[in-house]
Amino acid sequence: MMTNRFIRADIQNMTAYSVAQIPEHFIKLDAMEVPYRFPKHLQEELAKQLADAPVNRYPNPACSGLQEALRQSFGIPDDAVIALGNGSDELIQLLTLLVAKQGALVLAVEPSFVMYRHNAALLGLKYIGVPLNPDFTLNRNAFLAAVKQHQPALVWLAYPNNPTGVLFTRADIEAILAVAQGIVVVDEAYGAFSNDSFLSQAGQYENLVVLRTLSKIGFAGLRIGYAAGHALVMNQLAKIVPPYNMNQLSLIAAKFALQHMDMVNGYIDLLKTERQRLIAALTTLPNTQVFSSEANFVTMRFPDADMVFSRLYENGILVKKLHGNHTLLSQCLRFTVGTPEQNDAVLMALKRTVD
Ligand SMILES: *Cc1c(COP(=O)(O)O)cnc(C)c1O
Repeated sequence: MMTNRFIRADIQNMTAYSVAQIPEHFIKLDAMEVPYRFPKHLQEELAKQLADAPVNRYPNPACSGLQEALRQSFGIPDDAVIALGNGSDELIQLLTLLVAKQGALVLAVEPSFVMYRHNAALLGLKYIGVPLNPDFTLNRNAFLAAVKQHQPALVWLAYPNNPTGVLFTRADIEAILAVAQGIVVVDEAYGAFSNDSFLSQAGQYENLVVLRTLSKIGFAGLRIGYAAGHALVMNQLAKIVPPYNMNQLSLIAAKFALQHMDMVNGYIDLLKTERQRLIAALTTLPNTQVFSSEANFVTMRFPDADMVFSRLYENGILVKKLHGNHTLLSQCLRFTVGTPEQNDAVLMALKRTVD
C-alpha cells in the first residue's frame, strides 16, 4: 500500500508539535502555565458540579451561560459578539479559514506565535512576516508599509507578543487598525498580565477581533478560548465554528473558574510581582540581555543558550529554547514565571552557570 501518496507532501514534511516529557519532580517553566491550582475545598466543589454534568447531551455553549460570564468578568462590551473556541488555537485556525480565498494573504510580525504562520500554510494562504526591531518592538513603518502594499485579509498582533514578552504601543496597533481593511486580530493571550487591552474596544471597529484565552491565567487544561468583535465579522465566523466544539465539562469548569476570579486575580498579581523580581535579578547577570515583558514569562539572551538550557535541565528545570527559531531569537531562552520558590531555583542555577 502507498496510502501516504494521498497525503499532502507539505504535511509529510512537517514535524508534529511535541509536548515535553519530563520527570514528575521537574520545575516546568516552558509553556506559560500557572503554577497554582484551586485549593482542596474548591476542587471538591467543582468535582460535584462535574459529576452532575449531562454528558449524555450535546453541549450548547449558547445556553451554558459562559458567554455572559466572560462578558461580566472581563468587561466585554454589550455590542461585541463573542465566539468560543476549544482553546484560542482553534479560533486562530477558524479565523484563518474564514478568509482563505484564492490569493489571500496573512500578515504578522516575526518572531511571534508560530500558529499564525502554521495555519496560513495549512489552509493555503500566503504569509508575510515583518521582522521586529532587535529589541522586539514593532517596526511600525515597515509594518504599515506591508499592510498598504499587500492589503492582507488577516493581520495577527499578539499584545503582548509571544515569545518575546514585549507589548507593542497602543498607537502602533491603532495605526494598523486604521490602514488595514482586512481583519486585525489583537491576540491578548497574556492580556491579564499587561497594562493595556483592546477588549473594551471590541465591537467598535468593524475590522478588530480581540482574541483571549483562559489558558494563561491558570486553566490551560480546560481549552477555553474566546474572541470578541464586530457583529459583521463574528456572525460570519459563527457559521464555521463546529457545532459541538466546546465540551460539557469544560463549560462547567470555566464558569466555575470565573466565579472564583478573586483567587485567580490573586495569583495573577503574585506572578506579576514575581516577574518584576525576576527581571530585576536577571538584569544583574553578566553578559546577558533581558527583554521587557508584560506577560507571565521573561525572554533573555545569553552568551551560550544551549549550555544554559542544559545546565538548567540538569538542575531539574525545563525552560523554552528559542535559539534556532528565528535569527532575532539568537541565543535566547524563555522563562515562564513560576512560584517564588521555583523562580529562586532558576536564579540560583543561573548564577552558578553564568558567573
Ligand atoms: C498560548 C497562546 C495561544 C493559545 O492559547 P490556547 O487558548 O491555549 O489555545 C494563543 N496566542 C498566543 C500568543 C499564545 O501565546
